[in-house]
Amino acid sequence: MKFGTKVIHAGIEPDPSTGAIMTPIFQTSTYVQESLGKHKGFAYARSQNPTRAALEANLAALENGARALCFGSGLAAINALLQTLNPGDEIISTNDLYGGTHRLFTKIFGRFGIKTHFIGMDEPAAIEQYLNKNTKLIWIETPTNPMLNIIDLEAVCAIAKKHNIRTCVDNTFASPYLQTPIDLGADVVMHSATKYIGGHSDVVHGALICKDEAFAEELAFIQNAAGAVPGPQDCFLLLRGIKTLHLRVQRACDNARAIAHFLKDHPKVKDIYYPGFESHKGHAIAKRQMRDFGGMISFTLKEDTREAAAKVLEKTHYFSLAESLGGVESLIGHPASMTHASISRAERLALGLSDSLIRLSLGIEDVEDLIADLKQALDQ
Ligand SMILES: *Cc1c(COP(=O)(O)O)cnc(C)c1O
Repeated sequence: MKFGTKVIHAGIEPDPSTGAIMTPIFQTSTYVQESLGKHKGFAYARSQNPTRAALEANLAALENGARALCFGSGLAAINALLQTLNPGDEIISTNDLYGGTHRLFTKIFGRFGIKTHFIGMDEPAAIEQYLNKNTKLIWIETPTNPMLNIIDLEAVCAIAKKHNIRTCVDNTFASPYLQTPIDLGADVVMHSATKYIGGHSDVVHGALICKDEAFAEELAFIQNAAGAVPGPQDCFLLLRGIKTLHLRVQRACDNARAIAHFLKDHPKVKDIYYPGFESHKGHAIAKRQMRDFGGMISFTLKEDTREAAAKVLEKTHYFSLAESLGGVESLIGHPASMTHASISRAERLALGLSDSLIRLSLGIEDVEDLIADLKQALDQ
């Protein structure tokens, strides 16, 4: 089954009791048993819910995994994955990563004796010097937030495999339409489904998709034992959003390409971070491992100050000033004072995240309107 067919059909059957083509929202906490110990596979809704089960089957198919587990948020999914580790274990992670993931690794799991090494993975071989007998997980985010660095998934996963270490890829920025890490050797894929998978800025949700059933079973135990499960209404919204995933993400990619070219020629713009440009250092890898270059762009201004960025951010009409990404509406943000505000200025600058850096999440509007909007904001 090809991707555009999977989003509509994989794991989804008409409701057997009514023929309803849309998976019903099973808004129930429990299920009536026929007799003692005899039920239809559903006993209690933290453990099993049919709306969630349909979503999990669909997500497993989209990522070419054996099984998916859904959670109440992206961070709840990462939290469940980290609960498979033990005190003394170590993680090697990309350094330019989602702020909330960094906070969870350091502020919560650091307290439980799990140490994370944050490193640049532009050169995958750099991983080897941080490996030791306690290394249990390699955490990869690509493209990264907000610098849009590209990590070579095949190369990193090959090193991990050689040392028998599990890999997990945060695939939120790419979405399974653009990139399927399990095909490149990853063991687990994580999604903040809040972003492209949901796609309509109306739900917070997370997922883990596993390459093999045995590890999925371990995670399913944690999903039930720790209980960070999503509600059925949210699962329904995701099933609905997923049906247009390929159309939405392709349109966002097309809009990003046009906007990146517009910015390149603008006199007030300094650097543009967009993997679709041949001058981007990860371009060749992105071309190999992704279907297109994504709907995210970051750029800096020649006048490299927070004030200059603020003037642009406050003047756009169609680009809304907001956190998050991956929805149908275009967003504009200032990482230094929004997503990365908790990181010191020195650390930010070391990552290339300068004072005027502006991040765009392209929606699916008509690109002529988006370009006109950015142009009037930059020209003022
Ligand atoms: C938003 C996001 C997360 C966290 O997901 P939530 O659904 O907000 O908990 C993790 N990784 C990336 C790349 C994200 O953008």
